[in-house]
Amino acid sequence: MTSVSPHKKARALKSTSRRPAKELCSECGLCDTYYIHYVKEACAFINQQIGELEVETHTRSRHLENPDELYFGVHQDMMAARKQQPIEGAQWTGIVSSIAIEMLNRGLVEGVVCVQNTKEDRFQPMPIIARTPEEILAARVNKPTLSPNLSVLEQIEKSGMKRLLVIGVGCQIQALRAVEKQLGLEKLYVLGTPCVDNVNRAGLQKFLETTSRSPDTVVHYEFMQDFRVHFKHEDGSSETVPFFGLKTNQLKDVFAPSCMSCFDYVNSLADLVVGYMGAPFGWQWIVVRNDTGKEMLDLVKDQLDTQPVTSKGNRKEAVQQSIPAYDKGVTLPMWAAKLMGVVIEKIGPKGLEYARFSIDSHFTRNYLYVKRNHPEKLEAHVPEFAKRIVGQYKLPE
Ligand code: FAD
Ligand code: SF4
Repeated sequence: MTSVSPHKKARALKSTSRRPAKELCSECGLCDTYYIHYVKEACAFINQQIGELEVETHTRSRHLENPDELYFGVHQDMMAARKQQPIEGAQWTGIVSSIAIEMLNRGLVEGVVCVQNTKEDRFQPMPIIARTPEEILAARVNKPTLSPNLSVLEQIEKSGMKRLLVIGVGCQIQALRAVEKQLGLEKLYVLGTPCVDNVNRAGLQKFLETTSRSPDTVVHYEFMQDFRVHFKHEDGSSETVPFFGLKTNQLKDVFAPSCMSCFDYVNSLADLVVGYMGAPFGWQWIVVRNDTGKEMLDLVKDQLDTQPVTSKGNRKEAVQQSIPAYDKGVTLPMWAAKLMGVVIEKIGPKGLEYARFSIDSHFTRNYLYVKRNHPEKLEAHVPEFAKRIVGQYKLPE
């Protein structure tokens, strides 16, 4: 292994400078470092290359003819899991934080890239390289905002670290994989979460204000499998709002343009993915993509209850019906939204079928977004797997 990485350097952009991906930038953090030199190849929004990077990372790209791989990417195992003793204050049961802590404690890695929040604002992301379990724990729970996780990459080289775990969402991981060889590491582990509908900090405020009864006290929220947004408030109380009652007319422009153009919902290039959407309510959903991912999961297996993934229902009709609602920004009256939520929950898609419902709804919406706003990018930017998924539906012109 070389001790000096041979990569080329360029000057990082000032935080106020326009990013190379322009309005599609997801603020992944790469351009805050000298690795901006590689931005034209590495940026997920300038050079979509999931298929090629799958081959480099997992030794093969996903089998498009295998229905599970078409949707969930290259994998050797999938399951539902939850911690026997959940971590207080984690997004779900804290499987992500537990794996990171175990990797550090056992000396598999010297540092963990994760994201804490600033002292002043619980939703303002502050990426760090954690070197203690306490620092990892302080990064638990989602910061539901675009987060420049890769902005700490320069520190890795300066610190001389050779073994690293990076926790991140799809666009961050795509750029990371593209520059992985330049980082001078002996071993990189990647623990991913799915990600969708992210917002910048101002967009988050608008979302909270239009959706929650008490925007200032929200500590945590999630779009859950029961077709409701669940908010948790400072005083421990919870609030639920049905998806179909969201004020889509006001929320249309809230989601970041990067997230409206993203087709890597399931974090195709991570070694291990931990989300929730393919699992029963209250459980987390785990996708083991390769042997490195298996090694990571094995570290915490004795702390988990697990069960096989299941699938029930048929999403197709619900997806097809939701396309114009998304497209035109229709909002149902609250009583109708609640009713629709109850009906869908009773008869609707569950387990992996719910995950497919969510992927289909977002990919069709995003395909239309790219077609209308960046038609010149459509062909190269939409991966083949996403084209096939979208091709199952009738889209408006
Ligand atoms: P915890 O132990 O609480 O750890 C959370 C980890 O996430 C921390 O290590 C932190 O560093 C990292 N993190 C927090 N915010 C960010 C961020 N903005 N960018 C990068 N890393 C971050 N799962 C689904 O199945 N479907 C979804 O639609 C979905 N949407 C998501 C949207 C966002 C913006 C994020 C960040 C995650 C989303 N997830 C989704 C993943 C899911 O919400 C949980 O994060 C995951 O199940 C891990 O839960 P946990 O309790 O194990 O995590
Ligand atoms: Fe740079 Fe990342 Fe923005 Fe692309 S998404 S322009 S790599 S900061």
